[in-house]
Amino acid sequence: MNTNPVLVFDLGKVLVDFDYSIAAENIARHSRLGPRELHAFLGSSPLLADYESGRLSREEFFKSLKEAVGFQKGLLEFSGFFADIFTEIPLMTGFQRELSKQGFQTYIFSNTNDLAVEHIRKNFPFFADFNGYVYSFQVGAMKPQPAIYEAMESMACAKGRELIYIDDRPENIEAGLARGWQAILHEDPVKTRREVISRL
Ligand SMILES: [Mg+2]
Repeated sequence: MNTNPVLVFDLGKVLVDFDYSIAAENIARHSRLGPRELHAFLGSSPLLADYESGRLSREEFFKSLKEAVGFQKGLLEFSGFFADIFTEIPLMTGFQRELSKQGFQTYIFSNTNDLAVEHIRKNFPFFADFNGYVYSFQVGAMKPQPAIYEAMESMACAKGRELIYIDDRPENIEAGLARGWQAILHEDPVKTRREVISRL
């Protein structure tokens, strides 16, 4: 059993910001749909959730999206457009680095897809420095579904109050609290940092 708490970080809007309108603009340039329609499509179609739950492979996701929006280029070009939407949040990645240096275990716990992970791994050095990674597309379940929280507990060999969990989505935090995790709703880095430190 762990004596130190382990730190569980959501990725999007916690460690990196993202903006799908950038992807929509780039993809739209080679599609039947305009940027706004494309952005709306990405937000409302079940395709992205199917991809991030592992129900669609990268190739299947691409093929369905290509047909739906009339994209005229290949998977490689699409991948670049689709994944290049992230910017690091240094106040939070710096905080994770400090915690890791102090000997705390840190984990990534994310609803995401393999294109995003590949892109982030290649472009953001902070991403290499975690003890483990739990991704929805690999587990086959998305937060707030219990299966992905179970996968996180197994990977960290920890449960209940041993996990300090940071996420920006209230429904995900609720699911963590329901398992007895110490879950913190991320609103801004200064507040989150103070809240985490008070629990160490
Ligand atoms: Mg998030």
